[in-house]
Amino acid sequence: MLLVFLGPPGAGKGTQATRLAAKYGVPQVSTGDMLREAVAAGTDVGLRAKSIMDAGRLVDDETLADLVRARLGQPDTAGGAILDGYPRNTAQAKTLDMLLSDTSHGAVDRVVFLDVAEEILVERLSQRRACPACNANFHLLFKPPADDAQCDRCGTQLVQREDDQEDVVRDRLRVYADNTAPLVEYYEQLGLLVRIDGDGSIDDVWGRVDGAISRTVCA
Ligand code: ADP
Ligand code: ADP
Ligand code: ZN
Repeated sequence: MLLVFLGPPGAGKGTQATRLAAKYGVPQVSTGDMLREAVAAGTDVGLRAKSIMDAGRLVDDETLADLVRARLGQPDTAGGAILDGYPRNTAQAKTLDMLLSDTSHGAVDRVVFLDVAEEILVERLSQRRACPACNANFHLLFKPPADDAQCDRCGTQLVQREDDQEDVVRDRLRVYADNTAPLVEYYEQLGLLVRIDGDGSIDDVWGRVDGAISRTVCA
């Protein structure tokens, strides 16, 4: 099973991808998480990516291709993967097809597009908190950690991402509209798009995602 989550920043891609990955027992591959790990570890990729990520712009396609190729080459993805945050433009979508055939994964099965209005996105991102150690995501109102400051899963101090500051959020939404939104039509024309209303509670959206994927992938 090879699924892609598509949608604007804050749409709930990470949240829903985590649930779907757990249900089907395939790894969630989040390029945002991978890049943040590279930044934290101070690797060459991390050093190159940090200022770009802090400004809400896209890291270059070649760096992403290298990261995703390496990840899809690891044995735990043999049964598939759930991609979250990749591809983010049409060039990356074409590269993904090549990477999948190079790593004997076949092709993308479905693209889940989470459709959410802009005012809701800003509200979700402004109160998102993330665990820098295990990548768990929280929301101060909608998915509050038991202790405001700490990760429920691993106890690490939660942080607000640098790029979740409101001015950077506005830039990220623009980058999404210019670069990533065209992928909706791209995948629709390929007959791969599953459009999901991403408004409502996390559980409501999960019901729609789960229902749509069990119908299409397991049919
Ligand atoms: P969100 O899920 O909130 O949209 P991500 O965690 O996916 O954010 O991404 C954070 C940042 O990492 C992006 O703003 C961008 O700088 C970088 N990034 C992640 N994935 C990609 C990608 N596929 N191509 C280019 N840059 C990426
Ligand atoms: P993305 O990966 O698309 O950027 P996330 O999954 O990180 O989005 O969600 C963004 C923020 O909104 C997080 O704080 C998350 O807990 C919260 N969130 C996710 N889905 C919902 C929802 N349906 N309703 C309210 N808050 C949500
Ligand atoms: Zn944690």
